[in-house]
Amino acid sequence: MRKITRRKILQSTAAGIGFIATGHCSPGQFDGFVRHGLPLPISRSNPAIRHLNSNCVECGRCRDFCHEVTTVFGYPVPDGEDECIHCGQCTLFCMTEALTEQYHYPIVSKAITDSKKIVVASTAPSIRVSLGEMFQQPPGTNVEGKIVAALKKLGVDYVLDTTFAADLTIMEEASELLKRLELKNEKLPLPMLTSCCPAWVRFARLFYPQLLPHLSTAKSPVLMQGAVVKTYFAQKKELEPSTIFHVVLTPCTAKKSEILLSGMNASGVFHHVPRMRDVDVALTTRELAYLLKESDIDFVSLSDVAYDSVMGTGSGAGMIFGNTGGVMESILRTAFQLLNNKKPPQDFYELKSVRGFKNIREATIDFGCRQLNVAVVHGIGYVRSFLESVQKGVKHYDFIEVMACSGGCIGGGGQPYNNSMEFDQLRRLRINALYRRDSESKIRLSNENHDIETIYADFLKQPLSTLSQQLLHCNR
Ligand code: SF4
Repeated sequence: MRKITRRKILQSTAAGIGFIATGHCSPGQFDGFVRHGLPLPISRSNPAIRHLNSNCVECGRCRDFCHEVTTVFGYPVPDGEDECIHCGQCTLFCMTEALTEQYHYPIVSKAITDSKKIVVASTAPSIRVSLGEMFQQPPGTNVEGKIVAALKKLGVDYVLDTTFAADLTIMEEASELLKRLELKNEKLPLPMLTSCCPAWVRFARLFYPQLLPHLSTAKSPVLMQGAVVKTYFAQKKELEPSTIFHVVLTPCTAKKSEILLSGMNASGVFHHVPRMRDVDVALTTRELAYLLKESDIDFVSLSDVAYDSVMGTGSGAGMIFGNTGGVMESILRTAFQLLNNKKPPQDFYELKSVRGFKNIREATIDFGCRQLNVAVVHGIGYVRSFLESVQKGVKHYDFIEVMACSGGCIGGGGQPYNNSMEFDQLRRLRINALYRRDSESKIRLSNENHDIETIYADFLKQPLSTLSQQLLHCNR
């Protein structure tokens, strides 16, 4: 394996800072900001983000961004808590790579060479339309088959699609939404707030703990994937669970801390080996590219390879989980079917009222027997102002989707650096690519994914069953 030359560090002059676009930064986004000249105080024990003093030119952009846009740095948090929510947006706006994700890809290289380990890799929906950018492909190019091929070439034993677990999340969360609508009690209050974004969940825990009962108890797709890889998948493939090394490939820096949370050892508890974690390592899209480049894999010339069976199929609904509004749309499709016992009408397959790029979007959705008031919020700074209005009870909502990153996971803090265009234009290209992937899918409802039908028939029995609760849900 050869050591790659990392992105050249810009020797910025004070005058240039703020006007040179690297990473995802677009020049105009910092005009008018007061620069503090100090970096964000990232703790050494931060599980997701690191600060490299030797690269830092003390421009203060990260600090300004986190305070002004993310609305996290400088806001009071409970005693003893680190305020970072691990969203990694600062890594996209740091011009010198002084702020990056914690690098874990060498651990994966080592696991692959360990003959005693069975390496299972699971790829998130959104990385298929962004990883190509690290190999000079236009934004939005779908490189799904090449990712599988590359991972196999690296020596990964099984490559699975986390879109499968996105479908599982949809089944569980749609069922929970219907239960909340029916019960309307204090334990399961309305509105239900989505819980698949760990940076948002951490934000809620730090700044709005009173809202935690509103968060869905469903784990994120990455965590669900982890819980079933070392139980259901291991059973199906006759693998010894403790020999599995499970790496998830995600657009997200916050997944690095999410997999470490207490209770994310459901498979270990299932097998009476509590020290066994559901996910061993989370890598960002960028880290996957570094891993492939260091291994001299000629990514672009690879022929497509299909995912491995059992957990290798995802529906179009699961695919759009990576877009702002995608979680909402996919859950509404399945909730309609579960409630009415018939397929949703055609407009549910392109739910225009929840699509788009506006940071706060609202809609009233006709479910036939009732109407649902829903809202979609992306970009954590907008979440703060929106939640203030929700708490005042200005309007009644049944269901709210929240994603910390602008555009959803396609704009995640671990996505490729790309300064070839404005950040919003880049995100729109990735968003459109996932919607295209959905519209071209033969299966567009999570409940019609054959792999999902099989896991319920053979293992979980039904959404919200005792085993589903044990493996796929958590206490907030
Ligand atoms: Fe991670 Fe997606 Fe949330 Fe961003 S929006 S913090 S990428 S889960």
